[in-house]
Amino acid sequence: MGALEQVETGKQGLIISRNPATGEVLGEVREMDAPEVRAAVERARGAQKVWATRSVKERACSLRRFRAVLVKHSEELCSLIAKESGKTRAEALTMELVTTCDLITYFCKRAPEVLKPHSISLHLLKNRSSYIHYVPRGIVGVISPWNFPFAIPIGETVMALIAGNGVVLKPSEVTPMVALKAKQLYDESGMPPELFQVVTGRGSTGAALVDAGIDYCNFTGSTATGRKIGAACGERLIPCMLELGGKAPAIVCADADVDRTARALVWGGFANQGQVCASVERVYVHSAIYDELCEKIIAETSKLRQGDPCSDGVDAGSMTWEHQVEIVEARIKNAVDAGAQLRSGGKRYGQGLGFEPTVLTDCRSDMEVMKKEIFGPVLPLMKVADEEEAIALANDSNLGLMAYVFTDDRKKGQRIAERIEAGMVMINDCLIVYGAPETPWQGIKQSGIGRTHSDDGLRDLCQSRHVNYDRIALKRELWWYPYSDALYRQTSTLLKWIFR
Ligand code: NDP
Repeated sequence: MGALEQVETGKQGLIISRNPATGEVLGEVREMDAPEVRAAVERARGAQKVWATRSVKERACSLRRFRAVLVKHSEELCSLIAKESGKTRAEALTMELVTTCDLITYFCKRAPEVLKPHSISLHLLKNRSSYIHYVPRGIVGVISPWNFPFAIPIGETVMALIAGNGVVLKPSEVTPMVALKAKQLYDESGMPPELFQVVTGRGSTGAALVDAGIDYCNFTGSTATGRKIGAACGERLIPCMLELGGKAPAIVCADADVDRTARALVWGGFANQGQVCASVERVYVHSAIYDELCEKIIAETSKLRQGDPCSDGVDAGSMTWEHQVEIVEARIKNAVDAGAQLRSGGKRYGQGLGFEPTVLTDCRSDMEVMKKEIFGPVLPLMKVADEEEAIALANDSNLGLMAYVFTDDRKKGQRIAERIEAGMVMINDCLIVYGAPETPWQGIKQSGIGRTHSDDGLRDLCQSRHVNYDRIALKRELWWYPYSDALYRQTSTLLKWIFR
């Protein structure tokens, strides 16, 4: 293990968390075993039974107090997020804290409407009626990655809580201190302490959580782990939501505004050091503007200020995890060996896990860098003959989380967007839709199952139960015993009349 690898095993069963930019020790957490995880689930279950009896409005009221405590401690929280993940303080504030506070605000307001029973009018059985009501699932196991150590686990937790569930969270071993800080602030807010539990540890603790009697699994992480969790949930017949890896393509049409597109792609590729599941990971540029766009992107990249994530005026902080830096280095080497041009960046900087924003041009679709997830600050660019070629290449992937289209023609952008095999497509901007909680965040293909955010994402955290009742009570129904010849004749006449 390298000296600056921020996660290491200390004494037996302890995980040490370090600042990836400096190597400073931030704390240590215990690796919890299966009986401890099961006990946490049982404690949460006891509290959840009471919580579920509260109205959605009452739950919203309590969660607003949690938001107030987060805001009160925002400086401290942003510093810790920046220190443990390596992202800049500006990114910690905007991408983690603001998005989460806004998500709390949105769902506190919206949830009473979304979770109220709704009726279904029946088109044939006119004397009967149906409605759907929503019942919390019980205990939601949240398993989360290290790239957004606050926004992902706490956003998912808040949605589950407002739907009436209890939550047991297993944060990434790389960033456990942020999750523990969030739990401390949650307790301070007066929310029922047992209702939300944090269990720390590695993958085995996550696996123990899936096996600990939870009622729903909410997983965000790699496709490889998602496959294991999906299989474990299938074995136990527990529903799950899987938000997995991405390889977001950006299609740049000939009519795109070159200046604006260059700035958008530089942000979309390098924000959070490229460690976003929706980061721009491959750019297909129309040949008419390819050279000009490449030069603009290189120029914009050269303006990025690298440095200590906790200092002011830094655009590019540090990567989070040594292992991920090694993957990025391997992807760049592989691309250069295969003929790509390294036009900017390409190496580490500073004493920690800083990595220069990297631009690769002349990439080809058969290169690993255009096929496999990078999850780091690398923007690979490829020239295409036209939009048809770009769409075909964008769709030639087993992943389908996010995609981007750049054009000055909105209708054309929408036509292209609708042909891209991805759960989400943005036209003329990147990433920001994660901060719109009313919209579904979702992947198709091997990027995931289910969705989070949105009305549907909130309802997924409940069981939907269907009740059917007699609107007009009749002495007897037509379809009951005894079956008669008259019934057969009448039904046959109706069949011909209605369905002809
Ligand atoms: P991993 O899949 O390695 O880990 C995610 C979480 O799962 C961690 O808490 C991890 O614990 C835990 N885990 C590992 N093995 C198991 C197991 N067998 N059973 C249960 N839990 C387990 O992902 P990363 O943390 O490396 O995150 C990066 C990945 O996440 C990228 O592929 C990225 O695209 C994806 N991602 C997807 C998002 C989306 O919305 N679609 C959003 C953000 C990231 P530990 O860390 O302790 O090993």
